[in-house]
Amino acid sequence: MVTDGHNHTKHFSVDAEQTIDELINEAKAKGFTRIGITEHYEIDFPEDGLNWMFDLNEYDREFVKWQEKAGELELLKGVEFGYQSHVAEDIDKTASLIPFDVVLLSVHLFRGKDFYVDRECYKLPAKDLHREYMEMMAEMCERCDNYDVAAHYDYINRYTDNKSDFVTYDECPDVFDRFFEALITKEKALEINTKSIYKHRAGGFTRDLPDPAILNRYRQMGGKLITLGSDSHFKGSLAVCFDDAVEYLISLGFKESVYFKDRKPYFEPL
Ligand SMILES: [Zn+2]
Ligand SMILES: [Zn+2]
Repeated sequence: MVTDGHNHTKHFSVDAEQTIDELINEAKAKGFTRIGITEHYEIDFPEDGLNWMFDLNEYDREFVKWQEKAGELELLKGVEFGYQSHVAEDIDKTASLIPFDVVLLSVHLFRGKDFYVDRECYKLPAKDLHREYMEMMAEMCERCDNYDVAAHYDYINRYTDNKSDFVTYDECPDVFDRFFEALITKEKALEINTKSIYKHRAGGFTRDLPDPAILNRYRQMGGKLITLGSDSHFKGSLAVCFDDAVEYLISLGFKESVYFKDRKPYFEPL
């Protein structure tokens, strides 16, 4: 079983509902020997009444207890930073404050708004919306240095109501190439987020697995670092759609995925 490198708990992620005990038990029941925990940390998130930043030192201390509880199940201590142009330097600095195993970067906002709540951006033509979102992903990977993984490049499509929308390479090949160039040059990983697959499938979208042209181009440019993450927030959603994602990656010619420990990539066979 490949490592599920992207999960949240209610203890430090304000939008998560599962406890660490639930996550540990589920991971063991599903046969994992290792999972990543990547709590949300959003610097200067738009005011929504929630606290999207947590006490890093408290997390560092709690994690020792979590690992004791987990026993032979290895827990990777991670964080998921939300990117905005004006917080790039802050992210790089904050990622060094405690010893993380893995640092994920994400774009959760569009023009400064949380599109999970604010639907305005979905009035744009999908192609324009996806291009502008991918420009932020590319900028994030170019401007930040202190990270390991670019998470869910397809997050913008998760909350659209148009079931035929889908992020594809052909919509903005120049931007995808910029994104991959930054990842490959800096030796950072591309995440396949299986919650996106699940959301598309459950929502009855016309497509669910990542566009093959995206993954083929990444590999053609020399990309080798693929991580898988289910982005679980609730009990029962660890490793959702993992089998399909692994089978799909193999069909495209990928042979290995990676997880990060002490900020270094370790390969495991798909
Ligand atoms: Zn995220
Ligand atoms: Zn997440």
